[in-house]
Amino acid sequence: MSRFFSSKYSALTPYTPGEQPKERKFIKLNTNENPYPPSSLSAEFVQKASQNLNLYCDIACSALTARLCELYGVDADEVIFTNGSDEALNFAFMAFCDADHPAAFADITYGFYPVFAALNGVPYNEIPLADDMSIRAEDYLGINKTIFIANPNAPTGRVLPLSDIERILRSNPDNIVVVDEAYIDFGGESAVPLIKEYENLIVTQTFSKSRSLAGGRLGMAIACPALIRDLNTIKFSTNPYNVNGLTQAAGLGCLTDEEYTRANIAEIVRCRSVLTEGLRVNGFTVIDSAANFVFAKHPCLTGEYVYSALRERGILVRYFTLERIKDYNRITVGTADEVAAVLTAIKEITEETA
Ligand SMILES: *Cc1c(COP(=O)(O)O)cnc(C)c1O
Repeated sequence: MSRFFSSKYSALTPYTPGEQPKERKFIKLNTNENPYPPSSLSAEFVQKASQNLNLYCDIACSALTARLCELYGVDADEVIFTNGSDEALNFAFMAFCDADHPAAFADITYGFYPVFAALNGVPYNEIPLADDMSIRAEDYLGINKTIFIANPNAPTGRVLPLSDIERILRSNPDNIVVVDEAYIDFGGESAVPLIKEYENLIVTQTFSKSRSLAGGRLGMAIACPALIRDLNTIKFSTNPYNVNGLTQAAGLGCLTDEEYTRANIAEIVRCRSVLTEGLRVNGFTVIDSAANFVFAKHPCLTGEYVYSALRERGILVRYFTLERIKDYNRITVGTADEVAAVLTAIKEITEETA
């Protein structure tokens, strides 16, 4: 830290992204990316859009918005696009949290929430998951805080039914509830239709997981027009051109080729069952996942041990240092070949340590 760094940030511990190694070719199952490239239409549209790079991009993301509205059954004033959904989440912390509206989220959830809270000087409560790692809706009823719920949750992969989301929304009418649906395309029911009914609901989604555009940085928030206006106030006060022209084109390419996305999701869901079953056969406890990753633990091996043993074999997964989940690994569902490779390595590792 330099002596010039503002004291308001001196205690900040930034989010640690998963490793993106350059030195050797790993099978990358550590950051929940999609194993397939984006639709070829994305590359085609980006190529065309590159002709216009001398001009500022469309701040309203008009073409992208029109296509999304068609697909999702929402209106243009109910959507804001952002630089990844991380930006939408940060905007929500900026717009809807302060000393009078502290944040609340699970103790085991997306690691960026406490970072955004700290960045924005927002007090927050961590609400423990149940012993089976599920979110108990009862713990969120009438708590009078700005609530962030990842659904499906990360890194557990567990999903909350919409009826529970609705109970939480109804019991906190004077607070915003943000439902982070980064993984919703892989399982569970989206809360998007509920934005017509609940003026306190914000749903965020991303193109990084199901739509293969993690490197393009495209996300969105969907909510009633008044909340979208507030998020736009934040956007136009920080970076009006937050979604660049190439990314808008890549996103439109994706949305123009829905069958491609649906087919990839179906294959990932199929491979998720293969991975889940294969891990169980090798003695792991695996939580049934509604996402593109599984959360698994071995009765005798720590998460860090499994991580290191897999890394030696050229496969990257995640482990965690948080006490409650230090025995777990989070393994992204890759292609059928990648799943087969990780299961072969797991069999070796469990046999040699048996
Ligand atoms: C990946 C992820 C995001 C956001 O990813 P972006 O790439 O910024 O869109 C948000 N929430 C959860 C729970 C995630 O896992």
